[in-house]
Amino acid sequence: MICPRCNIPLETVIIEETNVHKCSDCGGHWLERYELNKIAHPIDGDIEFSSLHPEHPEKLNDLECPKCNVVMKKINFNVLAHIHIDHCDDCGGFWLDKGELTQINREIDKLNDVHDSPVVIVTRFIARLGSFFN
Ligand SMILES: [Zn+2]
Ligand SMILES: [Zn+2]
Repeated sequence: MICPRCNIPLETVIIEETNVHKCSDCGGHWLERYELNKIAHPIDGDIEFSSLHPEHPEKLNDLECPKCNVVMKKINFNVLAHIHIDHCDDCGGFWLDKGELTQINREIDKLNDVHDSPVVIVTRFIARLGSFFN
């Protein structure tokens, strides 16, 4: 597989006992469907599903899915976090630029820490909803 930013082959690295693809040049990660759930910090529910809505308004960008060669969409990681990641509608994979995995884990830690905010309750509900679709 080729890095959508640098056009060089991606390396295989192991994160949380999961084989994922990483670019040694830009530090981005390619995650196939369900891999983000496996390597991100644990949370109650499906973090991938909860990230698919709502779509980030800047609909298209120029990154192509390394697997399907279609243009990926910018989506909002989780409903609340302002982290915009690339997602392929065709295969369900995610492209994370360098540092985005750390940002995602920080957001998950925040959600796990706060219990009483109504916004967090909604997010947790959406995350849990995802579990029913798998
Ligand atoms: Zn790269
Ligand atoms: Zn794809």
